[in-house]
Amino acid sequence: MAENAGPLLAGRVALVTGASRGIGRAIALALGQAGASVACAARSTDQVEAVAGEIRAGGGRAAAFRLDVTRAEDIAAATGAVAAGLGPIDVLVNNAGITMQQKTLDVTDAEWDTILATNLTSMFLCARAVAPAMIARGWGRIVNIGSMWGKVGVPRYAAYCVSKAGVDALTRCLAVEWARHGVRVNCLAPGYMNTDFPREAMADERTRNLILAKVPVRRIGEPEEVGPLAVYLASPASDFLTGQTIYLDGGQTASW
Ligand code: NAP
Repeated sequence: MAENAGPLLAGRVALVTGASRGIGRAIALALGQAGASVACAARSTDQVEAVAGEIRAGGGRAAAFRLDVTRAEDIAAATGAVAAGLGPIDVLVNNAGITMQQKTLDVTDAEWDTILATNLTSMFLCARAVAPAMIARGWGRIVNIGSMWGKVGVPRYAAYCVSKAGVDALTRCLAVEWARHGVRVNCLAPGYMNTDFPREAMADERTRNLILAKVPVRRIGEPEEVGPLAVYLASPASDFLTGQTIYLDGGQTASW
């Protein structure tokens, strides 16, 4: 079984959006450890450079790219630069995302548009930018980072929940359209993870206890726990899996 001898992602090039911190950073590090050449992309250039540096310090191959996923021209420039610098993109991890808590009646047009542009339209634009080369080579992996909140209704989070439900639908549509070209598209949907995202809610003891009471394993996840699943979804091992949303949530969406 010589082909299993090397790291799972040896020779693959992966682009991770929102790799400057949190879940994206953890995924970038995990992909790098699995042997991929990793393009770490986000708006905070110092932070993505630091993440790429961590991968290189561990013996991996990585480079940092400035990317605002709400800007189509940035996506064209960054994906072109990644292909030129590291090689054709085999794996796209659409991770960049933002959230906002706001009574739905107070959400402005601009706020709604920003959430949808950052969390959903960006994933379509990035996938559309990288898929032609994947299709031409007959192999590709797209991992969209969704959320358990794409499955449920949460008061004051309408734009976020809608954006993540859209990520589920986008995942299914791209998966069935590109399956015959060897491109697999799946959605990795985390529950509460220990990043800047839910930090404010977790800082309040009453809210934290309410949240933990809903999670069967009675803790929130660590970003590092997302890495192995992302590596699997990025790898040849997941060849028969496509169009699925996988919840990494300590059992929360399985609970009554
Ligand atoms: P985070 O720590 O706040 O990180 C968000 C990342 O997205 C940062 O790297 C940020 O980079 C990037 N980003 C935001 N807007 C961007 C833009 N316009 N262009 C490029 N990059 C942008 O959040 P996280 O918890 O790691 O969240 C990552 C993903 O997981 C999101 O899609 C989120 O919806 C999802 N998720 C998180 C949780 C959770 O509890 N943490 C749960 C479910 C789903 P820059 O600011 O440097 O650009």
